[in-house]
Amino acid sequence: MAYSRVIAHKAEIGTAVDFDAIIIGAGVSGLYQLYQLRELGLKVRVFETGTGVGGTWYWNRYPGARFDSESYTYGYSFSQELLEEWNWVERFAGQPETERYLNYVADKFDLRRDVQFKSRVTAAHYREETRSWDVMLEDGRRYSARFLVTAIGVLSAPTMPRIPGVEKFRGQSCHTHYWPKEPVSFAGKRVAVIGTGATGVQTITEVAKTVGHLTVFQRTPQWCAPLHNGKISEEEMRAIRADYPEIFARCQQTYGCFIHATDPRATHEVTQQEREAFWEKLYSEPGFGIWMGNFRDILVDREANALISDFIARKIRERVKDPVVAEKLIPKNHGFGTRRVPLESGYFEVYNQPNVKLIDITETPIERVTPTGIKTSDAEYEFDIIIYATGFDAITGSFDRIDIRGVDGVSLKEKWKDGPQTFLGILVDGFPNMLMVMGPHAGLGNFPRAAEYSADWATGLIRFALDRGLTRIEASVAGATAWTDHVIASSEGLLFTEVDSWMTGINRNVEGKQVRRIMRYSGGHPAFRERCEAVAAAGYRELSLA
Ligand SMILES: Cc1cc2nc3c(=O)[nH]c(=O)nc-3n(C[C@H](O)[C@H](O)[C@H](O)COP(=O)(O)OP(=O)(O)OC[C@H]3O[C@@H](n4cnc5c(N)ncnc54)[C@H](O)[C@@H]3O)c2cc1C
Repeated sequence: MAYSRVIAHKAEIGTAVDFDAIIIGAGVSGLYQLYQLRELGLKVRVFETGTGVGGTWYWNRYPGARFDSESYTYGYSFSQELLEEWNWVERFAGQPETERYLNYVADKFDLRRDVQFKSRVTAAHYREETRSWDVMLEDGRRYSARFLVTAIGVLSAPTMPRIPGVEKFRGQSCHTHYWPKEPVSFAGKRVAVIGTGATGVQTITEVAKTVGHLTVFQRTPQWCAPLHNGKISEEEMRAIRADYPEIFARCQQTYGCFIHATDPRATHEVTQQEREAFWEKLYSEPGFGIWMGNFRDILVDREANALISDFIARKIRERVKDPVVAEKLIPKNHGFGTRRVPLESGYFEVYNQPNVKLIDITETPIERVTPTGIKTSDAEYEFDIIIYATGFDAITGSFDRIDIRGVDGVSLKEKWKDGPQTFLGILVDGFPNMLMVMGPHAGLGNFPRAAEYSADWATGLIRFALDRGLTRIEASVAGATAWTDHVIASSEGLLFTEVDSWMTGINRNVEGKQVRRIMRYSGGHPAFRERCEAVAAAGYRELSLA
C-alpha cells in the first residue's frame, strides 16, 4: 500500500511539504531506513554531509581501519538475494571492503537517487501548526517533511585535542575520521600518532609497517586483545551462506548481537587451571570472544575483573620486550573490558621495533604543537606527519551539532545537557514525529543487527500512524522518564560506569562532557526488543498519538 496520502493530507491543510520523511545520514542505519520507508510508499529524502554512502565506512579511511565484528554477522540480513550475492573476503573486513559492500547495497536497491550528498543539516525545527519538520542545510536550502529520522551515528562527530598550536603545524595533519581519499605514504617519514583507542591501535599497527620513525603519544593504554583476522575461502563462504539463518538467530540471542555469547559460569566456579585454559583459548580465537564470550561476572565482579586483567597484562609482558615499555602499555586506571576493547593484529610487537617510541603524556604532557612538531614538558620532537586518533564526541555529539528544536522551540541539546532522555532510544518527548535510528539509550551492539531492529520498529510505528490517519507521534513524558530510569538502573553494578570513556560520555576535548553519564542501555538487546515489542503489541498506547 502506498502512502502518498501524507503529502495529500498536507496539501489539504494548506501547507507545502517537500517529503513525507527526511532522514539525516547515509550510513548503515540511514540506508536501511530509506529502503524501509520507500517500501512503505513514502517520498523520502536523505541528507548526507559526505559525497558517498557508508557513514563510518565512507569517512574512516585511515590505514588499518577495519571491523571488530565478524564481517558475515555485520552485513544486512533483510534481503535473501543480497545474502546470496555478496561474498565477504576477510573474516573482519577492512574499510575498503565495507565501503564497497555498502555501495553495492545502495546500487542494488537504487537507494542513491533519494540521497542528497554534500548536504549537512545544520538545523531541524518542529512546526506544531503543520505537524512537520523544517530542515535547514549548511548552504541555506530548506526542506520540510512530516517525519524526521536521525541516522547520524554514534561515532560520527570527530574531535581534535585541545592542544595549543594545532593549526600552526607546517607538515601534514590528519584526523583519522577525515583521512584523505588519496594514499598517504609514511616511508622515510617521521610520524606522530596522538591517541591509542581502538582507532589509534589500528592506525599505529599499520603505519609502523612502512614508517621511517613513529612516535606514539599515549594518555590511556588499552586492554587490547588479538583479532586473528584471515581470508574467507570460497568454501567457507558457502558454509557461512548456508548458515546465515543460524548466525542471525544466534546474534539475536546474545547480549550485544554478536555471535559471542557470555559463558554462564562465574570466574570462581572453575579451577585456576581451567580458567587459564579457557582464557588461553579465547585469546587464541578470532574476535570479541575474550570480551563478550567470557565468564559472566568479569564485568561486574572486581575480583573476577582483576584476574582477567592480570591474564591480559601477562600477555602484554610476554609480547613487549622492554619491561619498562610493557608496563606503560598496561592499563592501571581501569580493568579489562570496562572500556571498548580494541582488537589488534601485532600492536604490542610494534613497540619492539627500534624505530618506534612510546611517550606517556601523563608523565610528560604535550604542551603544544609547533610549526615543526610537538613539544612536551621535557622535549621537542620534529615530525613530517601528525595523525590525530583522538576519537569522537560519542553518542550525542552528532545531535549536539544540529540545532534540533521541538515543541515551543525547546532545544534538544539543552534538554540533554545532563544526559540523554529518550523513549527506547527512538523517540523523545517534546519532539513529535522525530525518530532516531540508534539514538542514545537504544539497544546497542553489533551495529547492523541493532540498527535493522530500530529502523524496523520506527517503520512499524510510522505505518501504524499512517494506517489510522494519525499525524502526530510523540513519546509521553512518563514513558521517557520510565525508560531513562530503567536505562540508568540497568547499568548499576557494572564496572564500566566507574571509568572515564566515551561509553560514559567523557570527552576531555569537548566542553560540558567531563561528567560521567549513562549513555548506553546495558540491559542487553533481547531485553530491549522485548520492551519494544510490548509497546507495539499494545497498539503504542504508551505514546501520545493524534
Ligand atoms: C573506526 C570504527 C570502527 C567501527 N567498528 C565497528 C565494528 O566492528 N562493529 C560494529 O558493530 N560497529 C563498529 N563501529 C561503529 C559504527 O559506527 C557502526 O557500525 C555503523 O557504521 C554506524 O552506522 P550509522 O549509519 O548508524 O552511523 P554512521 O555510519 O556514523 O553514519 C552517520 C552518517 O550521518 C551523517 N551525518 C551526521 N550528521 C549529519 C548532518 N548534520 N547532516 C548530514 N549528514 C550527517 C554522517 O556524515 C554519516 O555519514 C565502528 C566505528 C568506527 C568509527
